[in-house]
Amino acid sequence: MGKNYQVAPNAKVISETVDAILESALTGKDLLPEEGVVLLKQTESSVLAAITETADQLRYRQAGDIVTYVVNRNINFTNICQQHCSFCAFRRDADTEGAYWLEWEQIQAKAAEAVRLGATEICMQGGLNPEAKINAASLPYYLQLVKTIKDEFPQLHLHAFSPQEVQFIAQQDGLSYGQVIASLRDAGVDSMPGTAAEILDDQVRRILCPEKTNTASWLEIVSTAHQLGMPTTSTMLSGHIETPQQQMEHLEKLRSLQQTAHKLGYPGYITEFILLPFVGQEAPKPLRSRVGRDQPVLTDALLLTAVARIFLGNWIPNHQPSWVKLGLAGAKEALRWGCNDIGGTLMEEHITSMAGAVGGTCMSVAALQNTISSLGRPYQQRDTLYQHLSPMGDGERGGWGEGGMGGWGDGEMGRWGDGERGRGGDGEMI
Ligand code: SF4
Repeated sequence: MGKNYQVAPNAKVISETVDAILESALTGKDLLPEEGVVLLKQTESSVLAAITETADQLRYRQAGDIVTYVVNRNINFTNICQQHCSFCAFRRDADTEGAYWLEWEQIQAKAAEAVRLGATEICMQGGLNPEAKINAASLPYYLQLVKTIKDEFPQLHLHAFSPQEVQFIAQQDGLSYGQVIASLRDAGVDSMPGTAAEILDDQVRRILCPEKTNTASWLEIVSTAHQLGMPTTSTMLSGHIETPQQQMEHLEKLRSLQQTAHKLGYPGYITEFILLPFVGQEAPKPLRSRVGRDQPVLTDALLLTAVARIFLGNWIPNHQPSWVKLGLAGAKEALRWGCNDIGGTLMEEHITSMAGAVGGTCMSVAALQNTISSLGRPYQQRDTLYQHLSPMGDGERGGWGEGGMGGWGDGEMGRWGDGERGRGGDGEMI
C-alpha cells in the first residue's frame, strides 16, 4: 500500500510537469535545457504519445507537411586519418589494409556519375591525412579537391569539410580558421557539414574523440563560417556514453549558435539538425563494450528526435533522421516524431556502413518517395538549401500535385523568411 501511495502522486506530478512543458512549447516558447531533460526521462507510453504529438504539431507549424529529400552523392576522398576516435571503424593508417586515397580522376568520375544520376549536391569529407599536401601545404590540396569538382561541374552544390577538417588545415598550415574557410568558400565550397560535433561536452569528447577539436573550437569554427557567409548543418552523435543532461546542453549550444547568427545578422546560419545515433557493431572494442550494444535503440533515438524538434524547432526548422543508421523503416518513423526531411540518396556511404550500420549505402529516389508517400505525406525534391526543385508528389495519390513550398522561410513560420533554406544529408560523417 505504502509503495503504491508513493508512486502514484509522483507519476501525477511528472505528468503535470510534462504537460506544462509541452503546453509552453506549443505557445512558441523556447524550452530550458532542464525541461528537455524532463522530457528525455519519460518512459510511460501515454506521456511519450503526448511528446510525439507535440513534436509533430510543431513540425507541421514550423516546417509544413511536405517531406523533402535531396539527390546527392557522398565522396569520402580518403580514409587515412591521423586521429583515433573511439567510435570510428572508417579510419586506417596509411600502410594498413583497406587504406585508400582517391586520385583526382576517380573523384571526377564519381562526380560525373552523380550528375548523370541527377545529383544536385556532392557531400565531401575525408580522414585527416597529413600526407595530403600540395607544395608542402594542406590548404592547396583541399582547394584542388574543390577545383576538381567545381571546374567540371559548377552547377553542383559542394557541401564539404567538417569543422575538424578546417581545424586540421589551419593547424597544418599555420592559418586562422577564418583564412581557411574564406579560401574554401572562394574556391567553391557552398556549405559545410556540421559534423565532428559528436557531443559538445569536453568530458565526453575526451573519451570519444580525444584528439579532435574541443567544444569551444568547434563552436568558434562554425560561428566563423556563419560570419563568412558559409551555411552549415548541425549534428549530434547520440546513444553512447552521454547523459540526457549532456544531450540537452549540446542542443542548447547549437540553438545559441543559431540565435547568435540570427541576432547579429550573419550571412550564414545552421540549415538543419541531423541526429546520428551511434552504431557500434564494427566500432573499436573498448567503446563498443562500454556502450554494450551494436545498433541504436530506436525508441531512444525517436524520443530524442522529438525533443530536438521541440527544443530547436523555433530556430532550426529542418530536422532529418539518418536512414543509414536507423534503416529506412526507422527513418520513416522519425518523420512522425518531428522530422520534415528524409535526407539524401548518398549513392555511396562508407563511414557508417563500415561501423556496421544496417541501413545500406545508397537509396533510390523512388524508395525515398515511396517511404514518404506511405505516411500519407507529400514529398518534394529539394536542393541543398531547401529550394524546391520539382513538382510536389502527393502522398495520398502517389502522383504529382501542385508545386507547393511549405517549410522554412515561407513567411508563415520561418524565422529567417528570406527565401534561403537549410540543407540536408551530411554524408553520415561523424
Ligand atoms: S571520425 Fe574522422 S577524425 Fe575521427 S578517426 Fe574517424 S576519420 Fe578520423
